Amino acid sequence: MASLVPSALQEVRGIVRADAPLRLLTHVRLGGAAEWLVEPIDELDVAAAVRACLDAEVPLRVLGGGSNLLVGDAGVPGVVLKLDRLRSIARDGVRLTVGAGVTVPSLLRTAREQGLAGLEVLTGVPAQLGGAVAMNAGTREGETFDRLVSLTVIEPSGEIRVLGRGDLEPRYRDGGLGARICVHATFELEEDDPKAIFGRFEEYLRYRNDTQPVTERSVGCVFQNPTGDSAGRLIERSGCKGWRRGGVSVSHKHANYFVHDGDGTTADFVALVHAVRERVREESGVELELEVKRWEVPELD
Ligand SMILES: Cc1cc2nc3c(=O)[nH]c(=O)nc-3n(C[C@H](O)[C@H](O)[C@H](O)COP(=O)(O)OP(=O)(O)OC[C@H]3O[C@@H](n4cnc5c(N)ncnc54)[C@H](O)[C@@H]3O)c2cc1C
Repeated sequence: MASLVPSALQEVRGIVRADAPLRLLTHVRLGGAAEWLVEPIDELDVAAAVRACLDAEVPLRVLGGGSNLLVGDAGVPGVVLKLDRLRSIARDGVRLTVGAGVTVPSLLRTAREQGLAGLEVLTGVPAQLGGAVAMNAGTREGETFDRLVSLTVIEPSGEIRVLGRGDLEPRYRDGGLGARICVHATFELEEDDPKAIFGRFEEYLRYRNDTQPVTERSVGCVFQNPTGDSAGRLIERSGCKGWRRGGVSVSHKHANYFVHDGDGTTADFVALVHAVRERVREESGVELELEVKRWEVPELD
């Protein structure tokens, strides 16, 4: 699939790989390759990559932890940016400034060790910080934007900007970034006893392990919860638990999770989405909307 690397990309410091299998970089382990995978060294290189793609009219996407992403079996054209190298965590008083490539579990560990409370509401979210901000990831305990005070982003033009919390309008599972790329975020936390923080962390983790298939390959919740209801409850009530298409099935533990047994394809996932949606529509009249982000999966657009 790889064509010539856009010449302008050669100016970007970082690793550039052709035909990189995104299957290996997504939590659900499905999908084809990225034509180009680029891992910039710092935010200046992210900005340079954005400008290079703009100038060369090459499609550009940004990948976080790949935990809410379904990639088409044929892969994606153009450049995928992976921000793993942006992994600094800097403390100033009760504020932490965190690089987009820091994983949420490691951020929670650092905050806990430093006696800073507030982020443990994200316990069990297998994201990177940039993806958590982009999606305003959250749990029943709270969400990413609760503690966010500012954000450094790369605009679609390649300009680097610092935004205050008030510049954005986050919603349920959407940080409101649009096409901007988050490279750093600053959170204001509270001092607390690390043992107390750890206690809450363990409690939230226990609840999650009891109710969700956390050790299996999935995209997290497939569908959004309809207003006043739960997608998982509707799917379960429609009798879809355990339904299977190829290597993908509806989890027995939580019906809004589809799990991949390692032998499936995105086409299997898509077929299961259609089947479950149709059954829920027939049984309850509700049209389930997708929560999972899709790259080159036109059957679900
Ligand atoms: C087992 C499991 C449990 C989960 N539990 C939860 C939960 O409790 N709560 C919850 O909210 N979610 C949950 N999720 C879903 C997922 O973790 C979140 O949606 C998370 O925010 C995705 O972050 P990511 O880094 O993996 O992003 P990705 O999946 O890589 O990307 C998701 C979207 O964010 C964009 N993006 C990624 N990084 C950036 C960036 N730096 N700047 C701009 N855009 C970016 C991508 O382009 C894409 O559109 C779960 C998923 C799994 C697999």
